[in-house]
Amino acid sequence: MEQLVRTNNIVLLATGGTISMKTDDSGAAYKALGAASLGENLSGIPNVSIEAVDFAYDIGYSVTHQMMLALAHQITQLCERGDIDAVVVCHGTDVMEEVATFVDLTVASRKPIVFTGAMRNASMPGYDGAHNLRSAVQVAMSEHAMGRGVLVCMDDTVHIARAITKTHTSRTSTFDSPNFGAVGFLNNDVVDFKGTPPSFRKYALPTHFVDVPLIWVYAGQDTSFLSLACSQSKGIVIAAKGIGHVPAWWMPVIRQAIAQDVIVVVASQCGSGSTSLQYGGVGSDRDLLDAGVIFAGYRRPLQARIELMCAISCGLAPAEIRRAFASPFGLE
Ligand code: ASP
Repeated sequence: MEQLVRTNNIVLLATGGTISMKTDDSGAAYKALGAASLGENLSGIPNVSIEAVDFAYDIGYSVTHQMMLALAHQITQLCERGDIDAVVVCHGTDVMEEVATFVDLTVASRKPIVFTGAMRNASMPGYDGAHNLRSAVQVAMSEHAMGRGVLVCMDDTVHIARAITKTHTSRTSTFDSPNFGAVGFLNNDVVDFKGTPPSFRKYALPTHFVDVPLIWVYAGQDTSFLSLACSQSKGIVIAAKGIGHVPAWWMPVIRQAIAQDVIVVVASQCGSGSTSLQYGGVGSDRDLLDAGVIFAGYRRPLQARIELMCAISCGLAPAEIRRAFASPFGLE
């Protein structure tokens, strides 16, 4: 008897990035491929129908909050369509960590949403965009991709958006998930996921963004950036040393900011591992806790900033923000 195989209807949403670029006569890479051209890389994948959509903006290192909001709104609308099974987003790699995290935090759908990109543009030997896009579509077609939040598929590896970081300026294996590990792999067109998806906390999609500055602590840094940031913001993220340390002379500014209802989140600039409590003394992790900061746990600074920005922008009360960050991985 003839077996019926369901066709997956997938939107390919092109937002720019190296995956859509070619090198021009001057040797510089510029955007050359829209969604329809990118979709030509997908011929031969069985049981899939692709709807190619060009996003209104090219998202790259000049991404704005407005573009991020527009992207999350568009993905939400696409996921609400009954005739769409999944969305694959072609995206630049430079800000993928932040934008994919934002979409993950704010788009509530259980449908697969898979970001992908490229490290070599379409004129370069070994263009990885075509392969990454095919892989992303294969991930998006997998029933096991449902309910995992936003995934990032690059170099035959599947990550969750809120875990990724770009670790290398040019290698195709640039993305890593230091505190989580990859959640799946592709082998010869087969997608294998590890375990079942955890349930991460979501936020309402805000109508506008309240900006949250991120301050990277460096040796001998005075308090000028810190004071400015605290005087102009409802919340700040400090990328602190080690498990959560700042210069001793920062503490009066931090204490005063918290007294004036500024939410201060402390993440670690180490790249992996969690904030935690061990040391005494002024500027130590324990001193910061005593001052009333919120620790970011395993969230790295960029993702902690996006999450705090979502929390403040959608009007969460300080106690609720504290509860959200009390989960070191951002689980519900
Ligand atoms: N290097 C980047 C990319 O991979 C450029 C960007 O993010 O816009 O696409």
